Order: sequence, then C-alpha cells, then structure tokens
Amino acid sequence: MKYNAIVEKLDIQTNKNDGKLHDWTFAIKDNVNLIGSKTTASSALLENHESIYNAHICDLLLAEGVHVTAKTSMDELAMGGTNRSALTGPVKNPYDPTRISGGSSGGSAALVASRDVRAAIGSDTGDSVRKPAAYCGIVGVKPSYGRISRYGVVPYASSLDHVAYFSQNVSDAALILEVLAGRDDRDMTSSYEPVDAYASLLDLDLKGKKIGVFKTVNDAVENKETQEAFNDVLNKLEEQGAILVEKTMDKALLRALLPTYLSIANAEASSNHSNLDGVRFGNAIAGENLDDLMKHTRGQLSLASKKRLIYGASMFLDEGDEILFNKAKRVRRLIVESYERLFDDIDVLLSIAAPNPAPKIEETQVKDLFSDEHLIADNYMVIDNFSGYPSLTQPMGMSDSMPIGLNISAKPFAETTMFAYAKKIESLIAWKGEF
Ligand code: GLN
Repeated sequence: MKYNAIVEKLDIQTNKNDGKLHDWTFAIKDNVNLIGSKTTASSALLENHESIYNAHICDLLLAEGVHVTAKTSMDELAMGGTNRSALTGPVKNPYDPTRISGGSSGGSAALVASRDVRAAIGSDTGDSVRKPAAYCGIVGVKPSYGRISRYGVVPYASSLDHVAYFSQNVSDAALILEVLAGRDDRDMTSSYEPVDAYASLLDLDLKGKKIGVFKTVNDAVENKETQEAFNDVLNKLEEQGAILVEKTMDKALLRALLPTYLSIANAEASSNHSNLDGVRFGNAIAGENLDDLMKHTRGQLSLASKKRLIYGASMFLDEGDEILFNKAKRVRRLIVESYERLFDDIDVLLSIAAPNPAPKIEETQVKDLFSDEHLIADNYMVIDNFSGYPSLTQPMGMSDSMPIGLNISAKPFAETTMFAYAKKIESLIAWKGEF
C-alpha cells in the first residue's frame, strides 16, 4: 500500500453529525486499541490481535466526529526510530520514497505529509513523533507527561511513554489537544490540570519576549543547510522584537542522554512486554511444555526487539544488576534538574529538531556512534520524555529537497505558550511543503 504506511484500511465514524473535529480524517498508529480494527504494534506475535476495547483517545476522537480511515505502520512495539523494522516493510517518505519517514510513528507521519489524512495519532517515548514530523515536513506534538491518557495504548516504557500526534499546521494541533487532553481515571499518571482552549489562545506579540536557543544542541549539528535555515528563523524572530537567550548545558550530560534512555527504556520494555508469552497475549506456538511454548512464541519477535528486551532484562533487571538501572535513573534526574534550570528566565527553548533530512532506507549505519552529532543533535529530544516537558516539532525549510524541522519545548503544562510561539513561527516561515 501507499508508502507502506497503512496496515489496515478503516472506515470508522460513530458520530456523523457534529463535533469539534467533525469529518476530520484521522489515521491511528497500530499500537492503539480501536474496536473494529486489529492492534498488532507491527509485531508478528500480535498479527491476529483484534482490539476488544477502545483506547481513551479513540473514544474522545470518535465522540468529536472524527473519521478514522487507517491504522498505520510502526517499528515493532514502538522500539525504533526508522520504521525499517515494521512488519509491513519500511515506511517510505512521501517526499522521496527512497528515504525513511522516521519512526516509530512513521506510517502516521507519511499519511499526514501526503495529505491522505488531516491528522494522525502516534506515540512518543524517545522522539517517535517529533523526529518523523521533522523528516516529513509536518507538525508533531508531544504534550506534557500526563496530559493525554495512555489507556488502551500498547506500552513501551511507561515512565517515558506519551500519546503524541501529527497535524498539517499549528492551529489544527492546538484544537486536537483540546479534544485529547484531560483526566482519565484509567491511567493513573493522567493529570487533573485544567485543559485550556488552546486553539483560541494563539495570538502572540514577540516584542520583548525572551526566547531560549539551545546552543549546545545546535552547535552539535554539522549540516550547514540545517544551520542556515535555523538561523534564518532566529533572525526573523529578532526582527519581530524577540530577545534571544543562548542556553548551554553540560555536554557530558547531553552525551549521556542516549545511553540513559536505552537503559531505562529497555528495562521498562522488558518488564512491560513479559506478557507477550502466548499465554496471556500473542499467537501461541506450541511446545513440549510451557517453557517451550513461551520460547517459541517470543521467538516471533524481530531481532531488533529481541536485542532490546534481552539487554533490558539481563543488564538492568537481573538481581544484583538492578544497580545499573538505579544509576540510569540517577543520571536521568541530574539531566532533568539541569534542563529545568534552562527555563528560569525563558518560556520556550528552540533547537534544530534533527541535524539532517531523512536518511535513505538502505543507509542503516550511523556514521560515528560517538560523535556529538549522533549522541546530542540526533537524540537530544528524549530530554522532553525524561522531564515530561511539552515539545513540538514543525517544518522550517528544506535541505537536499527534503523537509527539515525545528523543535520548541516549554514548561510543564504550558502547551498554550508552546502553540502560540509555534503559530508565530509558522506565520514567519510561510512553509508550504510540496503537497
Ligand atoms: N528513537 C527512539 C528509539 O529507537 C524512539 C522510540 C519511541 O519514541 N517510541 O527507541
């Protein structure tokens, strides 16, 4: 199917008469339960898994008149950043089908970029909505931790998992959050914080406003075109009277982001996915005894997933090795404390979302695993999963005929502020995209 983005075509609309998002076409990532569809999370193990209930977000969208047209492809169990491991094949980027759309929410990103749907649901544990948004030239929103209920979404790493989504512009993004945000008793991490009328609070005068610029991240970007596009945006903000404040963070802490993320995420994932054993969930493959059945059943996982789960279980959760998991959590705390301080005198922090446009599908090797470009520029967005701060990626220009994006982060539950800045930037850039 188109771009390998769709795993199941759907035609679900329960409220056909009205609603805040009446008749908006929506795609839903395949790790979200929706009655009338399969929820496979791109895993052979769950290939036949029919959803038997609706995720909270699906109830909310359907009540507001949304028309769900597809379930979308993803990296298996959301454990990846490229969609190369997707069960239905690598998702192609609508701007250039020889390139990836990013992951793990790559199918949703591709369909919004190609205008096949107006908006789409994804999930973001490390950057799985914001990175594909940058690669596909669309808006990607990961709100504050607890802002949207995760009830009914297949978990990856519970202390980092967020429901997140894609849209074609900032106004749509603001309206979607009005629908999705709010307390749900079925997710104990869901917040009681009141929900704003985000879409009607987008006006902003930049005169005298201080904007943080994440210098340590931007300095780690080597691509000149990305640098220039970002500097153009900064110049435009200054022309509007904004005051730019450069923000730096200890490089050693930023270099620790990726290893800390992988330690925490893989440990939590191995615990969350221990129920994919053929007894509780998943296509069972019989064996001589229960152990064999579990081994055969879990053998259906991709090599990439197996590596993560084995690493998570053996390095971090085994008796005695737990100390490593606790160390990772301490490093996370240090990073978050230092990140929080950046916001002492600013409301939003801007940075380059991804150093380069989407890589080619066959380009599977990272140039230098220990470079700052990889450790910092390409993976820093996980800092907003560590801290739970809201974060939004939006297009800022083109490089190599491909979209490139910038990222805005704001203080917890300051989505209103985040959207207002994003809207202003959108109007200054007037980026149209190809479609
Ligand atoms: N790139 C991250 C990873 O590979 C993103 C995963 C996510 O946010 N689901 O784990």
